[in-house]
Formats: sequence, structure tokens, C-alpha cells
Amino acid sequence: MPDPNPAALAVKAISLLGIPFDANSSYLRGPAQAPQAIRGRLYSGSSNLWTEDGIDLGRPDSFHDAGDVALPDDAKAAFLAIEAAVKQTLDLGHPLICLSGDHSVTYPTIKAFHARYPDLTILHFDAHPDLYDVLDGNRLSHACPFARIMEEHLARRLVQVGIRTINQHQLSQATRFGVEVITMRNLDRFSSLKFEGPLFISLDLDVLDPAFAPGISHYEPGGMSVREVLDCIQGLKVPVVGADIVEYNPTRDLHGQTAMVCAKFLKEIAAAVLRKDNVAPSVWP
Ligand code: MN
Ligand code: MN
Repeated sequence: MPDPNPAALAVKAISLLGIPFDANSSYLRGPAQAPQAIRGRLYSGSSNLWTEDGIDLGRPDSFHDAGDVALPDDAKAAFLAIEAAVKQTLDLGHPLICLSGDHSVTYPTIKAFHARYPDLTILHFDAHPDLYDVLDGNRLSHACPFARIMEEHLARRLVQVGIRTINQHQLSQATRFGVEVITMRNLDRFSSLKFEGPLFISLDLDVLDPAFAPGISHYEPGGMSVREVLDCIQGLKVPVVGADIVEYNPTRDLHGQTAMVCAKFLKEIAAAVLRKDNVAPSVWP
């Protein structure tokens, strides 16, 4: 959906783009419904639009919502449409947060980001490494995006956090690509990492313990709390240029509980993007 007033775009701080695609899910469909469900909760009135460090995202100049990508039925054509839409939105000149579907779409998303930011670092939160060379005969599966990204050198560095399903194949892939893996049982190692920008955050909701987020397809116990993910995001001292929130499955949610988690993450990622000097106001509690 084009903004009716191009002149107004100049003051928008962050672009939003919905990517309603879930055809590369290996287990359940549903994440295609995520973008509208997240928007609905963000503006539902059940919370406010202030970030925890005192930024009012309810100001009219905070977000430019580019709407949802129009997707053809064919999955390969859909990936081309996603890459083109992400590029077109980035060309507006703002950081971009994608409200995405299944995790496969991070591959075309990063293709477009790479064209603008050739030295991108990716901070990837997930229960799963998503490094399969191929799953169920599909090299574009939501279990494969980071294999495609790394073999095409689309990121300078990939750091994965919250992993708890690594197998021998994916361990080999991580070694082959030089992926830095912070598994759930070694989560305390995250605090010693140093990042350089530009940074892209890829946030798969199933990094959370299922107790915190029932609205996902793959329940993997023993995950992060919402607070632990927020601590990681709020502690970043590096330019964040983009993000995607993926794998939210509204068909499994309870009363929109997980949609609210997505909205919370969206707000705090926006805060990380906007915190250019990395300093929260000292008077803010
Ligand atoms: Mn994933
Ligand atoms: Mn996952």
C-alpha cells in the first residue's frame, strides 16, 4: 500500500512491511496471518505505544507502514516479490522492521538488505539453527534460510541465540559457515559478545519457552523468557538497521497472548533502532 502523501515519508523514523507467507513451513501453516494479527494487537488499546526507555511510538512520525507484500501463488515467484518489496521499502531510506510469516522469508529479506548493507551482522534468536542444506526436498524450507544466506555470503557474521535442537548435520553446517552459536544451556555467554553494525535482528518466536508463547508451530521446551530476549535487545550498543519477527502462528494463539509478545518485541526493537546514541534518558525509570 503506497503512502498517499510522499512528502510525509521524510519524517517517518521506521518502515514496517508485512510478509504474509507460510508456504515453506515444514509442519503447520498459519504464520501468513501473523502481520495483520500483530498490527491489530500493537494498536489494540490493551497497552500503550511507549517503549520501556521512554520513546513514544504513538507519535505520527514514528512508523511508515508499507502494508503487506502482494504474493503470487508460486513460492519461487513469491521470494522474488518479497526481495523486491523489501528493496523498494529500504529505498525510502528508513530502517525496516518486517512482520513476517515463516522463517524462510528471511532469505529474500536479507538478499535485499545485503544489497544496501554489504557488511551486515545478523543476530538470530531461535530454538532452531535453520541451517539445513535441505529439508523434505525443499532447499527454501523454513529450516534452511541461514544455510542459503551463509553460502551466498550475504552476512559478514551470524550469531545465533537460544538454540536447543542442534543435530550433527546442523553442527557441521555451523562449523562450515563459521556461525557463532549460543545454545540455551550456555546463554550466559551472550553478555560477553561484542557487536558491530549494521545489525539485523531475526527473531523467531519459538526461541521463547512455549510457556511464554503458545502461538507458534514448533513447541520446543526449555527456551528463553520474554524478559531474557528483551534484555539482549535492550543491551545492544550498535546501529540496528533492520529486523524481522517470524514464526508467529495466530491459529495456535490463546487470546492473542503471543501477538502481544510480538507487539512488545516490535516496540523494543524499534527502541533499539531509534536509540542511535545508545543512551536512554537518565530520568526515565
Ligand atoms: Mn527459525
Ligand atoms: Mn524456530
